Amino acid sequence: MTKLPMKHRFSLPEGMIYLDGNSLGPLPLGVKERVASMLQDEWGAHLIKGWNVDNWMGQPASVGNKIARLIGAAQGTVTMGDTLSVKVYQALSAALKMRPDRRVILSDSGNFPSDLYMAEGLIRQLDRDYELRIVAPEEVATSMTDDVAVAMITQVDYRTGRLHDMAGLTKAAHDAGAVMLWDLAHTAGAVPIDLTGCSAEFAVGCTYKYLNGGPGAPAFIYARPDIVGGIEPALAGWLGHDAPFAFEQSYRPAGDIERMRVGTPPVIQMTALDEALKVWEEVEMEDIRAASIRLCDLFISEVEARCPELTLVSPRNGAERGSQVSFAFEHGYPAMQALIARDVIGDFRAPNIMRFGFTPLYIDEEDVRGAVDILADILSNRLWDKPEYHQKSRVT
Ligand SMILES: *Cc1c(COP(=O)(O)O)cnc(C)c1O
Repeated sequence: MTKLPMKHRFSLPEGMIYLDGNSLGPLPLGVKERVASMLQDEWGAHLIKGWNVDNWMGQPASVGNKIARLIGAAQGTVTMGDTLSVKVYQALSAALKMRPDRRVILSDSGNFPSDLYMAEGLIRQLDRDYELRIVAPEEVATSMTDDVAVAMITQVDYRTGRLHDMAGLTKAAHDAGAVMLWDLAHTAGAVPIDLTGCSAEFAVGCTYKYLNGGPGAPAFIYARPDIVGGIEPALAGWLGHDAPFAFEQSYRPAGDIERMRVGTPPVIQMTALDEALKVWEEVEMEDIRAASIRLCDLFISEVEARCPELTLVSPRNGAERGSQVSFAFEHGYPAMQALIARDVIGDFRAPNIMRFGFTPLYIDEEDVRGAVDILADILSNRLWDKPEYHQKSRVT
């Protein structure tokens, strides 16, 4: 195993302290060359033969197997493609089909809006009196009533970093007769996950956050092996067909997780992701988690000692937190802009949250201290109060 951090494995601009790997991971070294080689030696040289000779068609399964290892899933239970929002839709519609006599989708107010929007859209599409019931994150366990068809929960609250108890909530869902769907967008690559152990029916996630697959990297979807054969895919694309190249007139789903594939995989992105995942062969998720908690704890204690303007909104106990720390501050937006101008990169989430992600692959204690030095300077000298820092960009 390689010692953490592994800064030398990433392309990080000199002097930058990158605390936003929870939103977009940095470029791992090797990806550029691998993608260049794919373009030149595979697409360029082989053209359409690449689907076979370079195994492009098998990538969703082979990359899926690498993801499976990171989320405690068995080989052959994960496939790749599309974006996370699409995978949420697929998993949710499949889950609802499993409980035809129930009408409630349970989620929480800490869920990412896209997941909730996809649920709203699916409900409108089905037009059968489904209800999206949104409760406070602390109330999910006690809201597992016997009318809940599916509990759709993102393990980490994107604003506060609060971490749900995966095993406990899955058990509560099952005790209530509900199907469990986990969104692992903010946990895959950050927190050890035991999907097989918790027995959840579905899980989905993206790969451009802690897994460093690059902007637009394909999403993943998992279905428990004993239920996969009964899933009726809402998005019945040809590559989820049992025999796509038989070109049958009617859809017949593949026997395994491949039925959650839809159309042509994004081969260039998949190649970048495949290369990016190599770093995980050298680290244990337990070591990542321990280092992440140490870094977050240090950040919290340093900020609280030196930046009295900020209020912690993340759980103080590391075991109840993902790999991010959030502070509320009335002037959070301009303060974050001022930080970014000084090459300390975090992000801002409305209405007032300054969010910092800690990724032990390439962040160490020196970075944490360096970031707090600059943050304290910006706050105590009100350096954030410049007109250019108040200007809102399209992406915050
Ligand atoms: C990042 C994130 C998304 C983004 O979805 P895309 O389709 O990849 O844009 C959705 N849901 C959650 C919970 C996320 O954290």
